[in-house]
Amino acid sequence: MRRALVVGNWKMNGTRDSISELLRALVPAVSHGINGVDIVVCPPSPYLTVVADAIKGCEIVLGAQNAWCENGGAYTGEVAPGMLVDCRARYVILGHSERRQQLAETDELIAQKFVAAQREGLIPILCVGETLAQRDDGHAEATVSGQINAVLTVAGVAAFERAIIAYEPVWAIGTGCSASAQEAQQMHAFIRTLIAGHDEEVAGAVQLLYGGSVNPGNAAELFEQADIDGGLVGGASLDAAAFIEICNSVS
Ligand code: PEP
Repeated sequence: MRRALVVGNWKMNGTRDSISELLRALVPAVSHGINGVDIVVCPPSPYLTVVADAIKGCEIVLGAQNAWCENGGAYTGEVAPGMLVDCRARYVILGHSERRQQLAETDELIAQKFVAAQREGLIPILCVGETLAQRDDGHAEATVSGQINAVLTVAGVAAFERAIIAYEPVWAIGTGCSASAQEAQQMHAFIRTLIAGHDEEVAGAVQLLYGGSVNPGNAAELFEQADIDGGLVGGASLDAAAFIEICNSVS
């Protein structure tokens, strides 16, 4: 039985004040019980310890939005996986489409980051997904399998015993235009079958999240799909009431 997981990706948003305000609403709501769902929040790196302190003793878990593929050295501006652990992060988002597109991160670099993150004990949330042009050209599955295979080649299938995969169609991120539950389920089933080709047990256990304009109105239908184990939520995770409603949508 896979546990449900909802991850909030705050992206490059927030100030110490606005984050404190968000957590003042989130922490008590989670402490009063959101049944059967694990909740992770991923603030911008400078705020990791602020958030770690604020969620202490609460069931919310800390994640980061990125990490470098080495654990230290002359990489100005980058953040080492070990630093994230030191700041009490347990998860790290890797391969988000905004980084793939705007920072030209390749499948190979992301695979190296994945390995480095796991080496330090972090749980990678590997983001995969196709652009609209790739979908329209009939290349959605080939794109996603290429992104996952790059990690499988370097890390091996057993690495997915300690990792999450988030399917995030690029055309659905921040657009208000989510994939339909059927489209999302279809790709999640494809991903699970892809992993099963390497190891059925790992495929049955790996948590697959959907991301792309998840909101309180569409979360329940998405989350009730057989292969969708929760969500990676961007914009709506900055609104405490909406995020709590999304977490409560897990059946
Ligand atoms: C994301 O940032 O991963 C995301 C899915 O964003 P949004 O929910 O705003 O589409």
